[in-house]
Amino acid sequence: MPREDHYVIIGNGPAGNSCAETLRREDSRARITIISDEKPLHYYKHRVPLFAVGGCSADELTVRPYRSYREKNIRLRLGQRVERVDPGEKVLYLKHMEKVHYTRLILAVGASCRMLTSHASFAEHLHCISGYDDARNLQDKMEKASRIAILGGDLTSMGFAREARNAGKEVVFILYSSLFWPVNLKEEIHDKVTERLSSLGVEVIDGCEPVSNVAPLEKGYRITLPQGETLEADLVFSFFGTVPNIRFLVGSGINTEKGVLVDDLMRTNQEGVYACGDCAQIFNPEFKDYWSSVGWGNAEKQGEVTAMNLLGASQVIDYQPKEIFEMDGVTIRTSWWKSFS
Ligand SMILES: Cc1cc2nc3c(=O)[nH]c(=O)nc-3n(C[C@H](O)[C@H](O)[C@H](O)COP(=O)(O)OP(=O)(O)OC[C@H]3O[C@@H](n4cnc5c(N)ncnc54)[C@H](O)[C@@H]3O)c2cc1C
Repeated sequence: MPREDHYVIIGNGPAGNSCAETLRREDSRARITIISDEKPLHYYKHRVPLFAVGGCSADELTVRPYRSYREKNIRLRLGQRVERVDPGEKVLYLKHMEKVHYTRLILAVGASCRMLTSHASFAEHLHCISGYDDARNLQDKMEKASRIAILGGDLTSMGFAREARNAGKEVVFILYSSLFWPVNLKEEIHDKVTERLSSLGVEVIDGCEPVSNVAPLEKGYRITLPQGETLEADLVFSFFGTVPNIRFLVGSGINTEKGVLVDDLMRTNQEGVYACGDCAQIFNPEFKDYWSSVGWGNAEKQGEVTAMNLLGASQVIDYQPKEIFEMDGVTIRTSWWKSFS
């Protein structure tokens, strides 16, 4: 039997970090470890589009320095991917085969870019920006590109279009109105989104989704619209929201659907295993159904509530929309997104 509690958090985003901080605040003695397959320190994702166009340094993304983890005695294991979880034995396995024992496990593994199945045949030519690595890998290509195309989009695509315009790029936005994620882009909001994009100097192509092909040229790509028209761009981006990073849980016995299924206290079906943030699907006893959320503020709140419940509280997340979100000048009522501006 382990001599002390070891709380292991998989994920170094806002959910994982707020969970770790709350655990430490409430329990000064437990061992706390954050494991993440990403190498950078906890970073602000809303600044990632700016980083992708070379508009800020990696340091300017960082939420808090390494020493703050040392001061709080929170162990950070970065660049280490969890490949498998065995809740029966209370162990997880890292990619390099190391076994890590835990007494409580918190899944705060977030989500990655969603690819449309209708784009599967040319997906290899599409770029996504779900985090630091994507943005870092794009910096050189973005510097050389003069015209980019965005297919989509979602809440992050508007910010990326703006940063690309600010960096002097031509931007063509092929709007998938029926698939805009996660808000319903009908009527008024649709018009505001197109107006906003146009005011940024973005060329909007509307009502031509889904594109039928993206093919590489000697330089750049040719995009074929459904009616056969074509256009060219140096880079093509895909923005269709996210899917939770739960594939590594297959076979673990932890119940998943689109995300990790948790009850209203953030507990999974496996004893001692919790989930929070973008990867969680939370049961609402009133509606007898699961709901999920995206957004920085929600992830932080869920991390905190998960920590409190793990330590014996019975806190329930309020899921009612209560914030008005400004998406690049377009007002949207949602509790999902935090406006950093
Ligand atoms: C470009 C961009 C801009 C955004 N802008 C905004 C904004 O303006 N406002 C807003 O509210 N939200 C914004 N968001 C969304 C917000 O950042 C997310 O909702 C939030 O980060 C989710 O937090 P999380 O802790 O649940 O997951 P994440 O922040 O995604 O963190 C999950 C972590 O788990 C790690 N991980 C996953 N699987 C494994 C594994 N098997 N082993 C080890 N580690 C693993 C991941 O690498 C990652 O470090 C933006 C997102 C992006 C991508």
